[in-house]
Amino acid sequence: MKLDVNALRYLTKDDFRVLTAVEMGMRNHEIVPAELVDRIAGLKHGGTYKVLRNLLKNKLVHHDATKYDGYRLTYLGYDFLAIKTLVNRGVFASVGRQIGVGKESDIFEVATEDGTVLAMKLHRLGRTSFRAVKSKRDYLRHRRSFNWLYLSRLAALKEFAFMKALGDHGFPVPTAVDCNRHCVIMSLVQGYPLVQVKELQNPDDVFDTILGLIVRLAEHGLIHCDFNEFNIMIDDDEKITVIDFPQMVSVSHRNAQMFFDRDIECIYKFFNKRFNLTSEENEEQDGSESDGEGNSRPSFLSVKKAAGSLDKELAASGFTRKEQVEMEKYIDEDAEGHDSGSDDDDEVGDAVPIDSLKIDRDHSDEPDCTLTSRDSGVPGTFSEEHGTSCSGENRLESSPSGSNGDAKEALESEGKMLSQEDEDNDDSSLDHDEEEEDAELTKKLNKQRKKAIAAAHGRRRPASSRNAYKDKGKGTMNSKIQRQACKW
Ligand code: ADP
Ligand code: MG
Repeated sequence: MKLDVNALRYLTKDDFRVLTAVEMGMRNHEIVPAELVDRIAGLKHGGTYKVLRNLLKNKLVHHDATKYDGYRLTYLGYDFLAIKTLVNRGVFASVGRQIGVGKESDIFEVATEDGTVLAMKLHRLGRTSFRAVKSKRDYLRHRRSFNWLYLSRLAALKEFAFMKALGDHGFPVPTAVDCNRHCVIMSLVQGYPLVQVKELQNPDDVFDTILGLIVRLAEHGLIHCDFNEFNIMIDDDEKITVIDFPQMVSVSHRNAQMFFDRDIECIYKFFNKRFNLTSEENEEQDGSESDGEGNSRPSFLSVKKAAGSLDKELAASGFTRKEQVEMEKYIDEDAEGHDSGSDDDDEVGDAVPIDSLKIDRDHSDEPDCTLTSRDSGVPGTFSEEHGTSCSGENRLESSPSGSNGDAKEALESEGKMLSQEDEDNDDSSLDHDEEEEDAELTKKLNKQRKKAIAAAHGRRRPASSRNAYKDKGKGTMNSKIQRQACKW
């Protein structure tokens, strides 16, 4: 997915305000009615419609008029909200080249104010597994919170929490720096994914270290579930770092043994194929037992899970048991519906090199960021595993300018959608439609804007809000928004 951060330079406070309003609306609507966006954003003089036009132009929102006139965030829009939030927090100041592309994530370099380079992982859950998710539509109908935005947020939250807990327990993982929405910031690992390494000085030592890690993880109550050459980084000193944690499960998971054995098997297979290591050469592993055929490998049953589970630390990092349960349900779903990826065509392609962009903390109408051209990146690896999904909080920093006071407080949104009826969430496939719609939509937005201005002058609600979209439930939409705003 292309992440053209240049657009960030030109986005104003109002742009972010309306973008956040769309995100908030998506808690309850898959497609957010235009009037609702307008009311949440609370901009004067029909400003929302003007801003929506700009957001559409930059592909930060998608317009959908199938059932009513509405909008939803695109992944790009979600990226920008997360990036802006993290920049405002001072976590980093600029975005650099893309260094990796997984099946369900994009990884970029980012730099802090003092020049430290970190890694930013944007989760893209649903990018490849959405077909599988779609095929389970009947089932998913009863689990309305399952959707790409929510899952990506949950995956990032999980990844961050696990990375932090594992790091605290001395595991060789990147340092977890921060997390927002579907975005995780971590230390940049030096080295390469093991899959790219053709030769090792000490393959036996590396093999032992890796198997030892799987065992130690299980002793701490965890199984990686994607422990393979794509998710093990190795540096020039053959020191390894494990990455990619959204799919980890507890040793108490009903399929724990199968996951454990699969991780072990992946490592055996890879070392056998790439470095000609046979299992006989690698006996005497910790917790190993004979399988009766003369081979010896770590066994799940003989691992002493004495070190206990990391649940406490995980809960402290914000990833609770409830979320773990939801993720595990999704992992099961995904594993069942997962095909080997032959039709993962549309977005997992070449990583798109991007220019480094210095991003302002406080956004003003005057774009004053410095754009430095950097080396375009060599695309990273094309990992073959599947991942899962992430977190979100975001504060709308601008002071409310709305006349109706719908968004008086700073608003925090989780970007959690509650309905899932869309037939296609693939943003890229919508691009053409968006372009075609453009002219017509611009006209429509201008019209809506004029109507809103007229309504404001006449102190009447725009006719469209009475007809096109009806508030449901007891309270008015305004009071609902106020309640939500308080909660956030
Ligand atoms: P996915 O979940 O999509 O598989 P990964 O976390 O495995 O994503 O990352 C994909 C690729 O991005 C990795 O194979 C690696 O090349 C690169 N990468 C990920 N995290 C880092 C990091 N912290 N430092 C350096 N490169 C990284
Ligand atoms: Mg991976």
